[in-house]
Parts: sequence; C-alpha cells; structure tokens
Amino acid sequence: MLRNPATEPLVERHGRASATAAIRRVLEGLRREILAGGEPKVTEEAVIQVASKLLAGYGIRRVVNATGVILHTNLGRSTLSQRAVEAVTEAATGYSNLEYDLASGRRGSRYDHAVPLLRELTGAEDALVVNNCASATLLALAAVVGEPGGEVIVSRGQLIEIGGGFRIPEVLALSGARLHEVGTTNRTRLSDYERAVDENTRAILWVHQSNFETVGFSESVGVRELSSLGLPVIADVGSGALVPLDREPTVQHAVRNGAVLTTFSGDKLLGGPQAGIAVGESRWISAMRQHPLARAVRADKLCLATLEATLIAYLEGTAREELPTLQMIHAPAKEMEEKARKLADELSRATDLEVDVASSVARSGGGTLPTYEIPSFAVRIGGTDAEDLAKQLREAEVPVVGRVQEGRLWLDVRTLLPGDETNIVKAVEALGG
Ligand SMILES: *Cc1c(COP(=O)(O)O)cnc(C)c1O
Repeated sequence: MLRNPATEPLVERHGRASATAAIRRVLEGLRREILAGGEPKVTEEAVIQVASKLLAGYGIRRVVNATGVILHTNLGRSTLSQRAVEAVTEAATGYSNLEYDLASGRRGSRYDHAVPLLRELTGAEDALVVNNCASATLLALAAVVGEPGGEVIVSRGQLIEIGGGFRIPEVLALSGARLHEVGTTNRTRLSDYERAVDENTRAILWVHQSNFETVGFSESVGVRELSSLGLPVIADVGSGALVPLDREPTVQHAVRNGAVLTTFSGDKLLGGPQAGIAVGESRWISAMRQHPLARAVRADKLCLATLEATLIAYLEGTAREELPTLQMIHAPAKEMEEKARKLADELSRATDLEVDVASSVARSGGGTLPTYEIPSFAVRIGGTDAEDLAKQLREAEVPVVGRVQEGRLWLDVRTLLPGDETNIVKAVEALGG
C-alpha cells in the first residue's frame, strides 16, 4: 500500500514507519466498524485522509508564525541564529569536551562552559547554566536558603504567576523556604522589608513582574535599595535582556546593583536556546552547583553549545543582526510594509479571496514587555469565514498560524522567517483543493 503514489506525501512528511502505523490503525478501525454491522465508506482517499489527521498530532513540526507575537511560547519562543545552528550540529554529531579537560586529560565540568562569556557580558563573578529560568530560580532559592524553614522576603506585588504553573509562592515552598510577604499588591516600601527582617531571614527575592505592569498609585523597591539591607538579594529578572529595550530590566543592571544571584531565561529576549542562567557571586553560584537539585536540572550539551554561540554574538556586537529574535523586534516598520505588500501581491495571484495590507501591532511575547507595541504590517484575507480559513491554513502541509481579527485572517509579517512566504502562498493555493 505504501508504494501507492497517493500515500507518498504521507511517507515523505512523517516517515515510512509512522505512515504505515497510522494507516494500519485506520484500517483496524474500519474492520471493527464493519464487524459491528456498520457500512463505512472505504475509499483509498478516505483512509489516507484519516491517517493524515492521525499523523498531524505526531511529533514536532515546523510551522509558520504569522501571529506577530515574536516569543510565542506555544510556537517555541526564540529561533536560533545560524551560528547557533552550526554549533548545535557540531555538538550533536560528534563527541565533545563536555566534561573533559583537554589540558590535563582529566575529567572536567560541564558547568565551566559559557561561564567566561557570561562573566564578560554581565560583569558577574561566576555563572551557572541549567535547564530553564524556573529551575534556575528554584535552585538559587534552595541554595541560598540552605536549611528548610529559612525565610525569604518577597513583596506582595511580586508574587506573580508566569504561566505554565510557575507561581512564586509555590516555587518558594518547593525550595524549602518560608515565604514572608511584605507590602501590598500596589505599594511596597523599603521600610516594609526592614520591619520583616529577623534571625530567620535568609534572603530577599526581587521578581520582575514580566507579563503585567502595575500602573497608577504604585510604589516598589529596586534591587539597589534592597541590597543596602545587607541580606543576599536574589533577582529573578526572567526575560534575559542583555541589551536595553524599553522598560525591560537588563541582567547587568541587577548585577551592578548588588544582587548576589540574578536568574534569567535563555530563550526569551536573549534569543537563544531554552536555558536558565544564574549569574552572581562565586560563593552562591558554588552553593548552587553543589546542591543536589543541580544534577536534576542540569543543561545538556546541545543547550550549552547553542547558548555559547548565542552569547558570542553579544560579545562581538552583532546580536541585533544575528539573532532572529532581536532582528524581529528591531526591524523597521517600513521594511515590514514592503514585505507585506509583496506577500499580498503573491497571494492575490494565488486566490480569489480578498487580500489587502493593513498596519498591525506586533508584540515581543513570552511574558516580556506586556505593553510594548511594535508597529508592524499584516496581510489580511477576507471574503470567507475567517475561523474556517484559519483552520484550513493550520492544516496545511506546513501549518500557517495567523490571528482572526475583525472577521478576517491577519498574517503579521514581522514574525515571518526566510522561506515562510513561499509556505504561505502554497497553503493558500491549496485551499479547498
Ligand atoms: C519567564 C520567567 C520565568 C520562567 O522562565 P523559563 O525559562 O520559562 O522557565 C521565571 N521568572 C520570571 C520573572 C520570568 O519572567
């Protein structure tokens, strides 16, 4: 059956074994239906169609992000630079000095990689890379608090939820720390922290609100003032901005202002792989490395290789041009307009539906810069049911994900990567076919 030309696209896209398994499952279903007295319509086409649907749920597939949300968490956040792709290929296809010291010929440490780069870029004494920022924050708290029951002071305005179950009070509890909340949702002053300090206090946690902002009658205390209290301050800055961008706090800012540990993500504004990075004082980084949890959340070689390649771009001053995330954030609106017009022209030739260009608002996404609007342009497709059109494009050979707005499908061009236009045109050409 798999030699049949009709099944070739299935085999090509999903591999022979998966395609065979899917078709077998469809046939078994049909047999059961027939045995139960049913009369299903058994055509080759129908079998292949059902098998395709089954396979659509298999594995990670490339999709076109036309949402205008750059760090789209559901679509994989940052994409990697060419240099990072080369580094990961090398690390993946060969042996490496992951835990081997080439100078001495003895065992080395995976924790040593990326450290010189992170020191140089952030001004911190030492650094540690783990699986993601959630684990970096958990490990930082566990290491600083030490014995269970030690207290960590946090402002009520910073007891946040990032999404996906990451909630500061719960992470604190998991680390073994006791949460000592101070202040109110909108206002917390230095005196609130001062009053809370006692012999059980082990640290102060400062958290970047990330995915929301407090505006109006509000007050909060910065890392510098908190550090003046003489207790270790852990700053969870989250987004990992190494270059200033709107109101996003940079990593260097937290380090300079005295945080003993600063934790951030590798795949948000840093524009690299999923990773959690802690930078800070050697004493506390060592405590994190030696903590039993460190092994459970350690980064793998693919992550370390891509992170190093990403960091080198910052060091060389080419991050804005080299890292797709930063490129997308900074590309001029004028360029987006040209891109949208070109795509609209191609789509007009591919379909009878109404196609036009409109100005649009893109976002950085991923729980960063919640109120930051990036001027952009979108191609709008109308003249049909927009939800239905959106669904059909999601089911294309390379799925296209846009957004439905004002009864039309909007394809924001700011988040398109090279080659995506061709995939969009193909998907639109295949509509209803
Ligand atoms: C995003 C974020 C995290 C979680 O980062 P992941 O890399 O997704 O685990 C933790 N803290 C803050 C403040 C964040 O913004």
